[in-house]
Amino acid sequence: MNVNAVKKVVIAGGGTAGWMAAASLAKLLGKTLDITLIESDQIGTVGVGEATIPTLLTLHRLLHINEQEFMAATNATFKLGIGFENWANKEDSYIHSFGYTGKDCWAAGFQHFWVKGKQMGIASEFGDYCPELIAAKQNKFAHLNKQSLNYAYHLDASLYAKFLQTMAFEHGAKRIEGKISRVNLNEVTGYIDSLTLDSGNTIAGDLFIDCTGFRALLIEQALHTGFDDWSHWLPANSAIAVQTTKADAPKPYTRAIAHDAGWQWQIPLQTRMGNGIVYCDRFVSDTEAKRTLLENLPGDPITDPRVIKFTTGQRRKHWNKNCVAIGLSSGFIEPLESTSIHLIQRGIVRLMQLFPQAGIQQTDVDEFNRQTQEEVDNIRDFIILHYNATERTDSAFWRHCKNLEIPDTLRHRMELFRETGRVFKSGNELFGENSWTQVMMGQGILPKAYHPIVDVMSNDELSQFLNQIKYNVDRTVQQLPSHQDFLEHYCKTH
Ligand code: FAD
Repeated sequence: MNVNAVKKVVIAGGGTAGWMAAASLAKLLGKTLDITLIESDQIGTVGVGEATIPTLLTLHRLLHINEQEFMAATNATFKLGIGFENWANKEDSYIHSFGYTGKDCWAAGFQHFWVKGKQMGIASEFGDYCPELIAAKQNKFAHLNKQSLNYAYHLDASLYAKFLQTMAFEHGAKRIEGKISRVNLNEVTGYIDSLTLDSGNTIAGDLFIDCTGFRALLIEQALHTGFDDWSHWLPANSAIAVQTTKADAPKPYTRAIAHDAGWQWQIPLQTRMGNGIVYCDRFVSDTEAKRTLLENLPGDPITDPRVIKFTTGQRRKHWNKNCVAIGLSSGFIEPLESTSIHLIQRGIVRLMQLFPQAGIQQTDVDEFNRQTQEEVDNIRDFIILHYNATERTDSAFWRHCKNLEIPDTLRHRMELFRETGRVFKSGNELFGENSWTQVMMGQGILPKAYHPIVDVMSNDELSQFLNQIKYNVDRTVQQLPSHQDFLEHYCKTH
């Protein structure tokens, strides 16, 4: 192990991952560290990754980011969840919202009460008991005084990187433009000593953060860390991205529309839309996928469609020697539940929690890798659920997904839910019971039974309980302005 104090941090790569790392480290630990970010204008960034989840607000609070300033700077809109269309069956749709559905009791989640209510014919749709979901459906949003909605953002990825860059500079981070041509390893320890640029300039460091995207220049090309390929569970391996004009007022949710061999995203920003299609090129050619995307755009293209190839999976170690991989260099699950930016943020916070100021200790490295692995495995299962729990048999792709051998952890959760309505969050898992329930029900997995505690309520009490929740949801949503009106007011008053 290298027990030299860590003073000089070098971040390789200036996409969302690199600038999030630079801004966070500079703002929170900058007084004790020398931080340099190297990025290559010639290589550029992946340029997608515009939908987030609510955990981003936690990072923004930590960094004291003013929401109105951030939204104005990044063309951002509010996001209350993701609308899934054609996933369980063609023509079916559901929303996985960030909100809480109904009310739980100590023994049983709301779905148990709802299942009995449905059997009795006194419950309406499951989503009717969630304010965020109904607000999303009605295209409404506002910050409420008493009961705040749980939300995230859609943002322009390149503007967000610029916004973070300004913040990183304010707190002392330095930027070097140039292409890294060599990673110099120490002959004795195998640690990274320095990076040499095309210009011949060599940048030395104590700790290196690999944010070079899919290239994984440090963690893989130099350190040969290894990669667990998850294509057998998550077969999508290609995407085509294109920006368009906006067709109508921005919706407060991301659309994920399933097609014959993958799915299409629509991410509404204030003045344009982010669009793309994710697919498996074993089931559809790039040309055909591009045609499907272009035939289903909400506005006129303003960029050329760009093909992006990827392999789903994870680096075997996210921290190896004196190199921590953050962002696409650490792995990629696929953008279905917008989890990549979240994982970037978790990687940064985890690194700060285990920061090796006094020198790199293997125990810290192992703990970092253990926590990351557990977090990513759970997210992987959640994403596979969307594909595997389909009833679609109308194309080779969906038949393949439906018949996949899935991880035992996921099979267990699905069976438990189907048989008993029970679902439990595992450890510090990102997606809680509420998310699992919404997606399992949305995908057509309905519990066969409910918890016996529900029968403690009389039928009248159950009816009142359900009605009261629905009444509160409707009343909350009624007060909300349209998302568009709120955005105009909120971003103008900044
Ligand atoms: P990149 O953006 O690729 O940046 C890499 C950086 O490294 C660049 O600055 C580049 O110049 C630099 N670099 C590389 N090689 C060198 C070199 N030799 N010398 C110098 N510099 C170098 N995430 C979400 O959270 N939500 C989403 O909705 C979402 N959608 C996505 C859709 C698709 C199709 C894909 C592929 C990803 C999506 N993601 C999403 C993931 C998200 O895009 C990434 O997590 C995020 O952009 C971070 O990327 P990055 O910074 O790791 O890599």
